[in-house]
Amino acid sequence: MKKVAIVFVLAVIAPSLVLAWLAVRSLRDQEAVVERQQTLLYQAVADTVAREVGAKLGEERQLFIQRVEALLQTNSPRDLAARFDATLRPEWPLAEIGFAVSLEGKVLAPSLFDSPEARRFRLDNDRFLCSTELVEVYWSSKALPNPAHPDTKGASPKAASSNPTNESKVGTETKATKSRVTTPEKTSAAEVPPLLTVEEAEFQRIVTEDTEGTLARFLQNQLKVLFWYRPARDPQLVFGAQINLPRLAERLKQSVRLEPALRGEICVALLDDNGRPLARSREGFVPAMTPSDGTRAGWKRPFVATEIGDALPHWEVAVYLLNPAQLGHSAGTARLVVGLLTALLVLAIGIGSWLIVADLRRQLTLARQKTDFVSNVSHELKTPLTSIRMFAEMLAEGRVQDENKRRHFLGIITAETARLTRLINNVLDFARLERGEKKYQFAPCDLAGLARETAESYRPHLEANGFNLKIHLPEAGATVNGDRDALAQVLVNLLSNAEKYSGDAKEIEVQLEDFGDAFELRVLDRGPGVPRGCEERIFEQFYRAHDSLASGVQGSGLGLTLARQIARAHGGEVSYEGRRGGGSCFVLRLPGGNLKRDA
Ligand code: ADP
Repeated sequence: MKKVAIVFVLAVIAPSLVLAWLAVRSLRDQEAVVERQQTLLYQAVADTVAREVGAKLGEERQLFIQRVEALLQTNSPRDLAARFDATLRPEWPLAEIGFAVSLEGKVLAPSLFDSPEARRFRLDNDRFLCSTELVEVYWSSKALPNPAHPDTKGASPKAASSNPTNESKVGTETKATKSRVTTPEKTSAAEVPPLLTVEEAEFQRIVTEDTEGTLARFLQNQLKVLFWYRPARDPQLVFGAQINLPRLAERLKQSVRLEPALRGEICVALLDDNGRPLARSREGFVPAMTPSDGTRAGWKRPFVATEIGDALPHWEVAVYLLNPAQLGHSAGTARLVVGLLTALLVLAIGIGSWLIVADLRRQLTLARQKTDFVSNVSHELKTPLTSIRMFAEMLAEGRVQDENKRRHFLGIITAETARLTRLINNVLDFARLERGEKKYQFAPCDLAGLARETAESYRPHLEANGFNLKIHLPEAGATVNGDRDALAQVLVNLLSNAEKYSGDAKEIEVQLEDFGDAFELRVLDRGPGVPRGCEERIFEQFYRAHDSLASGVQGSGLGLTLARQIARAHGGEVSYEGRRGGGSCFVLRLPGGNLKRDA
């Protein structure tokens, strides 16, 4: 038993626990993978929107160039250059200031006296535009970085590769949008890595390397974005415009949008260099961590973000989770489910083990009982056979002369034969019942008559052994529907038990009582009775409350099992009751009775 338990633990419980542990571990890995996949997905979304914003900016620059070309159709380049600011602004609303510079370094427009804005522009930019000073500038020539639209007008890898210095130092179209992945908890604006390249450059050098481009620079912490174009008609002139950023932001808004499938999960926003949201995919969205004082701390902690590029330095497309708790929540739910499943598995294993162990124990008991049964039956067969043989031999050899003795010996032989028959019948019947082959011949029979006949046939044997048999039966009228032989076998088994377990009090009674709807046939003795606690178990197969060795009483443990099975097949029952004054009372209850019959 102990060995089985150890094998069970090693073969079932230990592997199951290891499996459960592996399941929990793989869940943790899965969680990380899912989180990573989600991050990559949202990063791709941010990259796409950033590319679209970049492409839109490129389109706006192309519109500017078309506008300049259109103006050149009707004006000579030099005339246009002289009044470029005044001509461009009414025609192209994105222009804050229109400027024209000659390659020799002369600012042709705007005039210092045109307007306060023009004056401001000249003061801020003259030295840079005249190429008398190097300034820190972000610049990109030709098309803006836009890998999503490789065919964007003007995109030319040649422009980048023609100048190795540019390629290595500043952003060109070969530089993709720059991404950063953050988590709302961990990031602060200060941690954003420096992804942009700023270069000290001279205006003349920038514009001679290409024919069009975008420049961005910070003046007193304010971003200024310039488009420029050097027309083929007069390559000595550079036409440019300082962009009105609020209006540009208005135009870029339409690029900040999401696929319908993602609208319920995230919000994507375009942030300017101060982290101020200029456009968002979901109206009215405010990041979860935005403080109540309205500061922009929440906007500076996106889930992932991508910078637009050198044309709009420090502007970025940021992605925010609509429900940041959901990530942790779904992971928690998955953990709970696996935890419950594991607990259920362990519980199922526990219950299964308990059932298996209980069944094993039952099987072991049964196996032991069967072994006992074989030795009991062999013993029961041997004892009568020995006496039969002994007395038969004595009679056969003519050694017994006394007639009374001879009759006595013949009586013993008959009784022992009957005992053998009973035993063999029980064993055969039990085997038939086990295989489900036992057949009953049901017919109306008089229970009182049957009981009297059986008890009377047993009387000589009992009296020969010093028993006093009392039979209290009605004359007739106790009719039941039953198999005569089977019912007689029940009574014989009960009488035989009464005889075996009576001890010295050799008094047996047979009674029949009519309860109206049932008859009760009782066999009573004055023996020690069934030991306490065994009242039900004595009906189990092979079970013996009195051990052969200890009590010296032979038995197979089948008599009561058979009796109960036969009674149940008749719709009745055999049960045990302690007898007042000591002894046993076995009751065979069968449906019938006068009430029923009369009805
Ligand atoms: P067995 O062949 O052992 O008698 P049974 O199935 O007839 O098998 O009886 C089962 C057990 O019930 C017996 O071993 C005995 O312990 C107990 N028993 C049966 N009849 C009596 C009785 N009249 N008095 C006391 N114990 C009894």
